[in-house]
Amino acid sequence: MPPLIDESKCIRCGLCAEICPLGLFRFDKASGNPPEVAFPDECWHCNSCVLDCPKKAITLRVPLCQMLLHRDVRQLYDAGKE
Ligand code: SF4
Ligand code: SF4
Repeated sequence: MPPLIDESKCIRCGLCAEICPLGLFRFDKASGNPPEVAFPDECWHCNSCVLDCPKKAITLRVPLCQMLLHRDVRQLYDAGKE
């Protein structure tokens, strides 16, 4: 699922548009509108926009296969510290 922006929380700072490595957001500060996810199908679910949004206005539903991968990598990392 592509990122969703809660317009009531968004302060139109444009940081998500700047930070997205794929340039998926379309943002025109002068319009006063929040960024638009212009290419939702291209999202890599890297979570950068979610983490960097100063107002926590972005939610992202990560696909199940990626959640499992994340968990596996984390477990490998933790096991390596022991
Ligand atoms: S980073 Fe957050 S507050 Fe800033 S424009 Fe994007 S959604 Fe809105
Ligand atoms: S999750 Fe990553 S790729 Fe997807 S819109 Fe946010 S910053 Fe861009």
